[in-house]
Amino acid sequence: MERAACKGLTHLFFPTAAERPQARERREATARQVCASCSVRSTCREFARDQHEYGFWGGESEDERHAAGFRLIAPIGVRARSAG
Ligand code: SF4
Repeated sequence: MERAACKGLTHLFFPTAAERPQARERREATARQVCASCSVRSTCREFARDQHEYGFWGGESEDERHAAGFRLIAPIGVRARSAG
């Protein structure tokens, strides 16, 4: 956590309540840029995949983790529509 490039930027990595799709795209695009410069990205991504985390971790959105086979425990929204 000490080496995390997202330190102090939590608002970019987790959605607000009732976040609109366009706002989510913009927020996640900015988060992705932060992750691209992070020295612990691989470790972060592995952790999020193993723990079935929500939010944006290791350069990956929860939708991308879900699509890669690391299923969310309780899929909602886009994940629920694509689950099956
Ligand atoms: S890779 Fe993980 S620790 Fe690094 S900026 Fe992204 S979310 Fe934060």
